[in-house]
Amino acid sequence: MGIKRILIANRGEIALRIHRAAHEMGIETVAVHSTADADAMHVRLADHAVCIGPPPAAESYLNIANIISAAEIAQCDAIHPGYGFLSENAKFAEIVEAHEIIWIGPKPEHIRTMGDKVEAKRTAGALGLPLVPGSDGAVSDFDEARKIAADIGYPVIIKAAAGGGGRGMKVCESEDKLETLMQQAGSEAKAAFGDGTVYIEKYLANPRHIEFQVFGDGKGNAIHLGERDCSLQRRHQKVLEEAPSPVISPEERQRMGEICAQAMRDMGYRGAGTIEFLWENGQFYFIEMNTRLQVEHPVTEAITGVDLVREQIRIAEGRPLSVKQEELAFTGHAIECRINAEDPFTFAPSPGLVTYYHAAGGMHVRVDSGLYAGYRIPPYYDSMIAKLIVYGRTREGCIMRLRRALEEMVVEGVKTNIPLHQELLRQPDVLNGDYSIKWLEKWLAEREG
Ligand code: ADP
Repeated sequence: MGIKRILIANRGEIALRIHRAAHEMGIETVAVHSTADADAMHVRLADHAVCIGPPPAAESYLNIANIISAAEIAQCDAIHPGYGFLSENAKFAEIVEAHEIIWIGPKPEHIRTMGDKVEAKRTAGALGLPLVPGSDGAVSDFDEARKIAADIGYPVIIKAAAGGGGRGMKVCESEDKLETLMQQAGSEAKAAFGDGTVYIEKYLANPRHIEFQVFGDGKGNAIHLGERDCSLQRRHQKVLEEAPSPVISPEERQRMGEICAQAMRDMGYRGAGTIEFLWENGQFYFIEMNTRLQVEHPVTEAITGVDLVREQIRIAEGRPLSVKQEELAFTGHAIECRINAEDPFTFAPSPGLVTYYHAAGGMHVRVDSGLYAGYRIPPYYDSMIAKLIVYGRTREGCIMRLRRALEEMVVEGVKTNIPLHQELLRQPDVLNGDYSIKWLEKWLAEREG
């Protein structure tokens, strides 16, 4: 069924990203916004806009009743959730579908399965994805936990089944701390997610974070679009992402990508998904699957030429995937810098009035952002204000271009982490692609000295 008008249940750069794909397909857009976002760029660009509540996200961008009402009032036939907010809320997806509105996302049951990390791990194992050694499901009994930990060897990581965004994890170095940490993890998870279920995994010393982009049509066809390396992280938050990974060979990409695509065929998966792995010494270990579009999706778009949001919309319309696996080629190299309104080295948020803004430009430079001079960055939401995505035929060329683009980028009135990216792109380990998920925090600590 052809979609005519999409409600975009999000804000910021991702709302713009969806608007752009929709307009290029001749589809109208309806923005929703909190009172704090009345002047936001996503509201200005959309064909229509509906205010859905006050600044706190719980009362606006997470307000299901108001969003559904907005979709009905504005006569939308589809909803795109973007990332974050309600994008991985299976209940919301069901409510959207119950209102006979097209949900531009995976089937609700798949969102639910992958949203519970214990269920996700069990499902991934059954689908043939390699797992991190650990408990077979949830662990509540301390004696059982001790046996499992002794079996896989310390250190171990205690994770919340309902966790997300890097929260609800505790690393345990030795048996004497296991009981206390398990209790802490459980009560923190209960407080943060309303579910205290935890499980145990081997803690990998120096892994890389490598994730595969997958797409399914919901009818048993699926493809992979290669991997992204997101190892440069601070507090489990990605800072810079690249595709392809500097450590994955074309053969390995094909082998692992095909395992991921086959898993999606077996599930009958619909829409965009990301299968996340830790990678160490040539081995992949599944950690989770995200049933949505990712922040870092543009690096995949840059090296494949596929518009992932367009693909999501096509699939939601019941059309087939626009590319076959054998037609996909991975060409060149792409890197994304997440630009945040924050102090580049203390990471303290820096919301406020943007007095001047100049975006980088030129060949193979993409800036996804809702910034403009005179825009006031509200203090209520995520600090990411722009994504700079640069493409080059080689990794080296990409880095040279990225440095040049960062020089051009000007954001005045608030602090940004542009200086952090500039310094990162001069570090020999980064230039050599020689880093794990521990690298950035270690470097920051040494830098502070
Ligand atoms: P979330 O859903 O909270 O993002 P993930 O399971 O994806 O949780 O893990 C987030 C990050 O935590 C990973 O990218 C990695 O940095 C770290 N991590 C998770 N599991 C392990 C593990 N078994 N060993 C080492 N680090 C881990």
